[in-house]
Amino acid sequence: MGMDRFTRAANIDGKQFATELLERIKSDVEVLKIETGVVPGLAVVLVGDDPASAVYVASKHRQTIAAGMKSFEYRLAAETTQDELLALLDRLNADPEVHGILVQLPLPAHLDPNAVVQAINPDKDVDGFHVLNAGCLATGNPALVPCTPLGCMMLLKDTLGENLSGLHAVIVGKSNIVGKPMAQMLMNAHCTVTVVHSQTRNPAELCRAADILVVAAGRPGLVRGDWIKPGAVVVDVGINRIEGDGKSTIIGDVAYGEAGHARAITPVPGGVGPMTIACLLSNTLTAFRRRHTLAAAA
Ligand code: NAP
Repeated sequence: MGMDRFTRAANIDGKQFATELLERIKSDVEVLKIETGVVPGLAVVLVGDDPASAVYVASKHRQTIAAGMKSFEYRLAAETTQDELLALLDRLNADPEVHGILVQLPLPAHLDPNAVVQAINPDKDVDGFHVLNAGCLATGNPALVPCTPLGCMMLLKDTLGENLSGLHAVIVGKSNIVGKPMAQMLMNAHCTVTVVHSQTRNPAELCRAADILVVAAGRPGLVRGDWIKPGAVVVDVGINRIEGDGKSTIIGDVAYGEAGHARAITPVPGGVGPMTIACLLSNTLTAFRRRHTLAAAA
């Protein structure tokens, strides 16, 4: 297909998809409650008073309750010591009412985020950041996987169908929370995967070869129209707050206005963003099911 100026990329409506996913989760929770007599529970731990983190945690709490799950919120003082935080995680690891645990990042500088994440029981690690879960994903046996790339994967399959085999996926960004797990999920789906990062010499040329282009760099408007192959599916993970004209606007990593020749693209906001919390609750349900299946099998 040529670059037809009359073609318009379809919008991938992550907001709508997330709303429907949350409805499915809610009805699954009701059924599981009847079957097992237990309500899935998610514990979220916030240390300190970072305003953006506080907004995320409040939103997670609201949506957990709306899905019919139990929400356990722990807001700890910024001076909380590593030992105090680890002691709380020990209690949550042992608590049968808690199926998922999330520690909101970033943590205050005196705390070691790696030690904290590794202290979470991998069976309750609904962020999918524990090395055991990262290893399971890397070896093609995923258990609990990071929420943002999981959401991207759901949107890609909704757009392209379940079978992504043989497609060339290019991912911009190689962070542990988005780019790297995204590359592994797409490899597990039998895509040919290229990862572009800040040291890549020919990013535009590599991106232009992509059937699937996932961008998670945190650089506003990095990906221009001529980086996108006509007919490609573009997932923009970037969330960049731009101040100007006395107001602040959120924009993505892709120059959205130049992407009309893509087959489909996620808008920012309203694309990947709303999927992340929905996937967190989906992971909590996965952790709950795994616990009860294992308990039933024992
Ligand atoms: P990060 O940890 O800062 O990683 C950014 C990655 O992009 C790095 O691998 C970096 O390369 C690469 N990069 C930076 N500049 C680049 C350039 N000019 N060309 C090519 N690659 C470049 O960020 P992150 O946590 O993965 O997040 C990425 C973006 O997604 C952010 O805007 C963040 O706000 C957003 N995000 C959204 C959600 C959501 O929708 N719910 C969730 C998480 C993140 P190097 O490794 O070489 O430094």
